[in-house]
Amino acid sequence: MLGAPGAGKGTQCKRLVARYGIAHLSSGDILRKERAQGSELGRKAQAYMDRGALVPDELIIDMMKKAIDQAPEAGFVLDGFPRTLKQASALDQVLDVAGVRLDAVFNLEVDDAIIEDRMSGRRSCPTCGAVYHIRNLKPKREGFCDHDGTALVLRPDDELEVVRQRLVAYHQQTRPLIDYYKGRGILYQIDANDGVDVVDIQLQKIIDSLAKAGKGAVDQADGKAVV
Ligand code: ADP
Ligand code: AMP
Repeated sequence: MLGAPGAGKGTQCKRLVARYGIAHLSSGDILRKERAQGSELGRKAQAYMDRGALVPDELIIDMMKKAIDQAPEAGFVLDGFPRTLKQASALDQVLDVAGVRLDAVFNLEVDDAIIEDRMSGRRSCPTCGAVYHIRNLKPKREGFCDHDGTALVLRPDDELEVVRQRLVAYHQQTRPLIDYYKGRGILYQIDANDGVDVVDIQLQKIIDSLAKAGKGAVDQADGKAVV
């Protein structure tokens, strides 16, 4: 799942996981867990994350290789990885060795003004990682997680200054991946400015037609989201 920070990748991935019974491999979530545990990887990643920079490729590639190797047979959705061309090419190698095919790459396109609103309004649960929004996706009890009652927080890297740096990193280092996957014929452009349900339905339609075709190719004549 590609998209700017705050585009809604995590939100949509959680829905895919619930619907299709696949694993959610989120590099950001794994890094936050490593940090909370005080591991060596977590300590190394900390300074980069806090200033809105990307964590070095070598650390991320090792970490995601382990996650992919442990993923269940049912498959997985990658969220936040790859984020650089080097990571994308490392991913190709990892998948090759594992004998796994990348069926589809979704690019969630969201206008800048909407991105700002989504990031400034995002509230996260430090215990279970659930994500809410102060207007768009409110918890049942304001300020507290629906699942475990923990007080919700604004992620430190969702502060305005850090958000700006994360968007710079996204434009410089991650956007080139769109052309990388376009060239491979597996990129689906998704207009993700709409509400969560509308975006979800777009993804669902594509995935279901991929499944129907029994492989990584939808009916191109359908022309809806295929690039
Ligand atoms: P990402 O994983 O791409 O960084 P998130 O899934 O955490 O983004 O979403 C960022 C914020 O925007 C969250 O607060 C989430 O609740 C909200 N959000 C996600 N998708 C939508 C949507 N389609 N419409 C409105 N708000 C959304
Ligand atoms: P996210 O939760 O996806 O928004 O990621 C939070 C932060 O973790 C990013 O701003 C980066 O510092 C770091 N990070 C997550 N995934 C990657 C990745 N694939 N490559 C480099 N850094 C990453």
